[in-house]
Amino acid sequence: MALSRKTIAVIMLHAHCDMRCMFCITDNRLEVMTPQQYTDTLDTLRQQGFDNLVLGGGEPFAWPHGLPVAAQHAKERGFYVQVGTNGVRMPDDAAYPQWVDRYVLPLDAATPTIHNRLRPLSRGDSGHYELMTRRLAQMRRHDRAVTVSTVISRANLDNFIQIGDYLADYVASGGRLHAWHLYRFIPEGRGGKYHAHQLAISDQEFDDAVACARAQRYPFTLFKRPNMQHSATVDFFWYEQGNRCVGSKRWQQEQTQQAFDETDNMACMQPENG
Ligand code: SF4
Repeated sequence: MALSRKTIAVIMLHAHCDMRCMFCITDNRLEVMTPQQYTDTLDTLRQQGFDNLVLGGGEPFAWPHGLPVAAQHAKERGFYVQVGTNGVRMPDDAAYPQWVDRYVLPLDAATPTIHNRLRPLSRGDSGHYELMTRRLAQMRRHDRAVTVSTVISRANLDNFIQIGDYLADYVASGGRLHAWHLYRFIPEGRGGKYHAHQLAISDQEFDDAVACARAQRYPFTLFKRPNMQHSATVDFFWYEQGNRCVGSKRWQQEQTQQAFDETDNMACMQPENG
């Protein structure tokens, strides 16, 4: 069996976002990447063989040094450039087709009530669901490729499949949907940790949900994303206290530390022979 290799890099430019999604896994410790840190990171990733980049955050369009500039730097270095955005600050036109190859947009229900509860807007008159349907129509109008991501949680478990039906209609009407990504709710970060009691689902529920979606045989690719920390093809990069952090190393260290702590605790619980 061929070994898979990490070729997709997610750069988390900063933690700031203009939304407060209930399941947000972003960690507030992420620092604002400086332009120099950003271009250094790009050069390092290129040397390491990454060729596909996802600009994320927080919200990448809110990066104070300018998302278009970031995308341009990446494009000039030969990356395939994706932007994972909540769409709030996206321009209303083709949105930088010269530098951005694809957008990743969220859709967490096929009707406004559930989606807008999970993804409340902190400003603006209309809801985020309405904005997403507008952004998808905009991408179709400009013949732009898009990936749609959905976080499966307790709130949408019973009806998330309607999103698949909606996306099938989107494709039938000319939308360029690259894929539908199904993420499992993770009880971490500034949103997920605080809403785990409302949103958590079991491994089995997630597996069943994805199997149900696959059984629909939709005319697009479906990716199952139980936990991106264990992805074989994607790694994450951000800055903390002036240092570049690499997701695969950080999470490996945390797992090792956790295993060590558990062993230590078990050793403490052993009755002493004597
Ligand atoms: S999950 Fe929501 S709050 Fe978190 S970064 Fe994305 S859009 Fe912002």
